[in-house]
Amino acid sequence: MTEIKAVENKLINKALSYTSRGNKFVYHPKEIWNYLNGNGNSIISAHIAPTNKCNLNCTYCNQVNRAKGKFLEFDVIKEFVNGLIDRGLKSVIITGGGEPTLYPYFNELTKWLKEQGLKTALITNGTNNRSGKKLVETWNTFEWIRASLNFFKEKLIPLKIPESMNKGNVGMSLVYQNHTPDMLKQVADVAEKYNARYVRIIPDCCKDDYSPENYEGDSDVLLYKI
Ligand code: SF4
Repeated sequence: MTEIKAVENKLINKALSYTSRGNKFVYHPKEIWNYLNGNGNSIISAHIAPTNKCNLNCTYCNQVNRAKGKFLEFDVIKEFVNGLIDRGLKSVIITGGGEPTLYPYFNELTKWLKEQGLKTALITNGTNNRSGKKLVETWNTFEWIRASLNFFKEKLIPLKIPESMNKGNVGMSLVYQNHTPDMLKQVADVAEKYNARYVRIIPDCCKDDYSPENYEGDSDVLLYKI
């Protein structure tokens, strides 16, 4: 137990030093310990980024310098997921870089994951409702959806997520770029429309001068604008 605690502390320190996502590790010290020792029941949740293709071109995209338009073969994903199920996988978050709904087998993938008894969630830019030539049929199968909000010429790009999703399982995310009060009002309106559980506002990590300290002042300004 002492050793588990030591791993937990190490992970907490590491996570807090580099990413907001890393701190999820600290909630699962036993599973991380199992993983380090090659035991089962070590993988609870996995992210799958099935394609890096996207219908938008955000300056802060983590794919901005990569060749876009690639996608994983469906069979490769199946093999990967089946291997993780053997290690205790319970849920899958379908995400990017890239817009995952553009994956040519998006409907098939989401249905197949449910057939394996997995819980699923989706991180999307929310502005696309077609996968290949087919409508996205599976919005309602997700435990939760997080939609990133994007603007073009100070207008929020409309979400195409069905309004039937406004049951409290949609969250939203905004990369803060000195948005005007009017733009933030658009954010508030769409959050209300979808009964959003939260709106996450994060800094633009792709900015050359990015460092957490640079945003300390901005958060006060933002709260003032809201
Ligand atoms: S919506 Fe996401 S994946 Fe698409 S360009 Fe913007 S940041 Fe990149």
